[in-house]
Order: sequence, then C-alpha cells, then structure tokens
Amino acid sequence: MDECLFCRIVAGEIPATVVHETDDVLAFRDIAPQAPTHVVVIPKVHHRDAAALASADPALAGRLLAAATDVAESEGLTDGHRLVLNTGSDGGQTVFHVHVHLLGGRPLTWPPG
Ligand code: 5GP
Ligand code: ZN
Repeated sequence: MDECLFCRIVAGEIPATVVHETDDVLAFRDIAPQAPTHVVVIPKVHHRDAAALASADPALAGRLLAAATDVAESEGLTDGHRLVLNTGSDGGQTVFHVHVHLLGGRPLTWPPG
C-alpha cells in the first residue's frame, strides 16, 4: 500500500503531529481541523474501511476505539466528544485507510450536513 497516504504517515514518509501511539495504533492531528480538537486515529496496518477492519481483525477494531477514547481523555474533552468513521463515497470517506475522527472542544451539532 505504498500509495496510501496514511500508510505513508505510519512509515514516517509524510510528517504528522502525533498525539498518541501504541504498537498497532497511531493518532495524529487532522490537517484540516473541523473542531478545536480534531484527531485522526488509525490502525498502523492497512484496512480499507471499518467493515474491512471489523471483519479481518475485530480485536484491533476494539483497540482503535479504545485509543480514540484515550486521546479524548488526554485532550481534556471532559464535556464529551464525537467519534466518526466515514465509510465509502456517500459516507464522505476520502482516505481509504480506516480511521476514526475524534472531534471535540466545542458543542457539535447533529445531524451533520
Ligand atoms: P475522510 O474524509 O476520509 O473521513 O478523512 C480524511 C481526513 O484526512 C480528512 O479530515 C483530511 O483533512 C485528513 N487529511 C488528509 N490529508 C492529510 C495529511 O496529509 N495529514 C493529515 N494530518 N491529515 C490529512
Ligand atoms: Zn494505508
């Protein structure tokens, strides 16, 4: 997956502001933040989307969610936060390496546009 943007971030080929890292998960600040805190949380191994990850490695999917929650805590989002997994083109997915958006730091409206 040499051409995958997030695989290249994992490989250190593209710089990112990393806020959390485990053996198999990496979290970094989104380049175009949609909220005061906007962190992208990814498995280091490539899976296309949430469905592929959940099917191939549900335990890793669980660790991904746990890591996102750890970042919410370390970012001080005591009033709550939002986790988003955009999936496919109608879901607004633009990078086809599964990722959780962690958003917070202000009240977030629902539903999204
Ligand atoms: P998606 O639209 O696939 O759910 O989310 C992809 C996210 O990746 C977008 O929020 C976008 O701003 C972010 N992004 C795209 N390119 C880069 C980059 O080079 N570095 C970082 N840190 N984030 C990126
Ligand atoms: Zn990838």
